[in-house]
Amino acid sequence: HDEQAAAKAAAATADSGAPTIFDKIINKEIPSSIVYEDEKVLAFRDINPQAPVHVLVIPKVRDGLTELAKAEARHGEILGQLLYAARIVAEKEGILDGFRVVINSGPSACQSVYHLHLHVLGGRQMNWPPG
Ligand code: 5GP
Repeated sequence: HDEQAAAKAAAATADSGAPTIFDKIINKEIPSSIVYEDEKVLAFRDINPQAPVHVLVIPKVRDGLTELAKAEARHGEILGQLLYAARIVAEKEGILDGFRVVINSGPSACQSVYHLHLHVLGGRQMNWPPG
């Protein structure tokens, strides 16, 4: 499966500390459609949306959070800020009545960018279980 192969390749370079595409988005070197931004958090539309609303919420500083699996106790504050920002995004996008927040962590979950991000999805009926 192409997606899984790509996810494994991404994971293989994740620990190198190399910048990801999201650093370029944070630095505005490449354009993105920003939905919400504050001092710590950036939220922008996914380039390949899986729902009418598909927004990514990321920490502006990665600080070792390549994936949720790498989270430590010291990351608790930013993790809470990211989750709360997801709620702000849902409100701005008018989907507070029903939305989904997803974090893919690691190759088995098909994570493809190794800078922690929350997917905020909505605007259609979301089905369960996810694939
Ligand atoms: P993951 O598969 O790691 O959970 O999610 C990574 C997400 O980043 C994917 O949904 C993908 O579409 C999105 N993405 C990858 N590159 C870019 C980009 O350059 N711009 C934007 N806006 N989204 C991107």
